[in-house]
Amino acid sequence: MSDIRPLVAGNWKMNGLAASISEALAIADGANSKRANADVMLCPPATLIAPMVAAVGGDIIIGGQDCHRAASGAHTGDVSAEMLADAGARAVIVGHSERRSDHGELSADVAAKAKAALRAGLTAIICVGETAGERAAGLTLKAIERQLMASIPNAGVDASNTVIAYEPVWAIGTGLTPTADDVAEVHGFMRAYLSQDDARRQMRLLYGGSVKPSNAAELMAIANVNGALVGGASLKADDFLGIIEVYA
Ligand code: PEP
Repeated sequence: MSDIRPLVAGNWKMNGLAASISEALAIADGANSKRANADVMLCPPATLIAPMVAAVGGDIIIGGQDCHRAASGAHTGDVSAEMLADAGARAVIVGHSERRSDHGELSADVAAKAKAALRAGLTAIICVGETAGERAAGLTLKAIERQLMASIPNAGVDASNTVIAYEPVWAIGTGLTPTADDVAEVHGFMRAYLSQDDARRQMRLLYGGSVKPSNAAELMAIANVNGALVGGASLKADDFLGIIEVYA
């Protein structure tokens, strides 16, 4: 049994209005009563960070979904890591495949954002994952290695401030998941890669991509999987709690 404390993080993407705070309350209540042996995090849209921190920040970790590399300045529409921290966030997702595809973010941008997260005292959740084409071409591990090398900042990174999420692009929001062997192969590869540096050896490695209550136990039991990054199934308390329950 690994001594790495698991993390179950929910990514609400561009979903959620003020009324959705009730769902976060139900998640926090449920996670408390299940005494989950895991950290629980919700990453709502930026508009809900402060109210969600006020409502449930004492029970679960609240994080952002992206940040700008700069602390402030002329970047209309963007939010800095410092602003997320000021709103009460304790973490931020960077390099999600939807940011990479919708906004053309490259791994160098992701590294700069992760660096900004650390500068602001936030935990960086750095996402990596292969496309369907890369997997079909047998290039999964090459793609993951390339993204890890270029997306993780060179300095200041350790297991206390950085989490890696493996999210196969083709598994996000599709209902498809890799086989347990495929997840084990990628997570084993990531663990070996990170273990080249003692400070990174114990980093939490999350699996993300169509995690739901019915497949969570199998996915979370795979070696070197230290929790989940959950999209769609984190929007409803019953579904998200069904995943958290794996660690109860
Ligand atoms: C995600 O957005 O990070 C994700 C994994 O989405 P889903 O769980 O809906 O596949």
